[in-house]
Amino acid sequence: MIRINDNFHRLSPTYLFTEVARRLKAYKEAHPDADIIRMGIGDVTCPICPVAVEAMKKAADDQTHAATFHGYGPEQGYAWLRKAIADGDYRQRGVEIDIDEIFVSDGAKSDTGNIGDILSTDCRVAVTDPVYPVYVDTNVMAGRAGHMTDTGQWSHIEYLPCTAANDFIPSLPTRHPDVIYLCYPNNPTGTALTRDELSRWVDYARRNGSLILFDSAYEAYITRPDVPHSIYEIEGAREVAIEFRSFSKTAGFTGLRCGYTVVPRELKGVADDGTEISLNALWLRRQSTKFNGASYIIQRAAEALYTPEGRRQVADTIAYYMRNAAVLRDGLASIGIEARGGIDAPYIWLRTPDGLSSWEFFDLLLDRCRVAGTPGCGFGPSGEGYFRLTAFSSYEDTLRAVERMRPLK
Ligand code: PLP
Repeated sequence: MIRINDNFHRLSPTYLFTEVARRLKAYKEAHPDADIIRMGIGDVTCPICPVAVEAMKKAADDQTHAATFHGYGPEQGYAWLRKAIADGDYRQRGVEIDIDEIFVSDGAKSDTGNIGDILSTDCRVAVTDPVYPVYVDTNVMAGRAGHMTDTGQWSHIEYLPCTAANDFIPSLPTRHPDVIYLCYPNNPTGTALTRDELSRWVDYARRNGSLILFDSAYEAYITRPDVPHSIYEIEGAREVAIEFRSFSKTAGFTGLRCGYTVVPRELKGVADDGTEISLNALWLRRQSTKFNGASYIIQRAAEALYTPEGRRQVADTIAYYMRNAAVLRDGLASIGIEARGGIDAPYIWLRTPDGLSSWEFFDLLLDRCRVAGTPGCGFGPSGEGYFRLTAFSSYEDTLRAVERMRPLK
């Protein structure tokens, strides 16, 4: 029989959201009439921004004429989209990013998962705990994680706890990791790092020679002025950080699939023979070999988001979800449930009441309130005793969910 990659075999058998979906399906089968409000998986509910839809219709039309047909495009993405990104997401915030430092892709999940391809399997990794599961699982797949310990942690990964005790802001690592994953605004805790807090990480990475993998998929949700939208707003970050962005949660692209990654030219790695190698060149090599570019039609949709009308529509979508976040925060506070997030992120991270475990609270919420969320323990050991709700439902469902939770008081 064919031998498999044993690292995959080491993974816990189910991905968190698969397990949530499995339990929901079982519950639905047992209670076919149950009207469940889903606030678990981080998918959005608002439709795609109209400007993007119009751009796709036009782009589809382009594909019907030989003169405007587009086949394989540049693996890195079309220059017109990369220019729109460089201007709209960076220059307008005072950050200069060259279009050759931008790599358009089919989303941040792929890029945060694939980036490890260009790093040594010996690299030591640090993650915040709780954490977006993709960072840990892809390192397990690559053989960087060691073995699973009794504490639910992988032996070679440094976990940086984020709990009420440190106000959900992780301390700097102690095991000198080569690679540090930071996701801010954070999924799942909904917290964000201020300029000063993020500067400490950039300074640490420069001192320690670490690479920061900065996932800012939720950047558009930031409301506080002292929270940077890009890690490159911090001096020196170009020498130590790769940044990942996504159109999924800003413009309803979860089904369309588009995101991008910034790999600054200053970033260097070292080969076994001591040669210094540009990470930008290496990522280009990786992408041109394993990826054939995001679809032309979808890149046109993404480009449209940077027009004045596109920006207005994105802002409206975000305001809609953030109104839901405020309803959840206020509602939980009135019920007496302690919760964080929802200020710079579409996630609410709540403390399970009465010392219930995360999965116990999942079952209770589903059974008594017909509300589905995500158990915090699925994001890492420090997530035990916490629970995530998303602001991505409709406004009406969010109001209904709060009313249904009131009896928990
Ligand atoms: N990064 C974080 C932190 C996320 O929460 C998600 C989606 O939930 C992603 C990346 C995935 O984004 P995309 O849809 O662009 O793959």
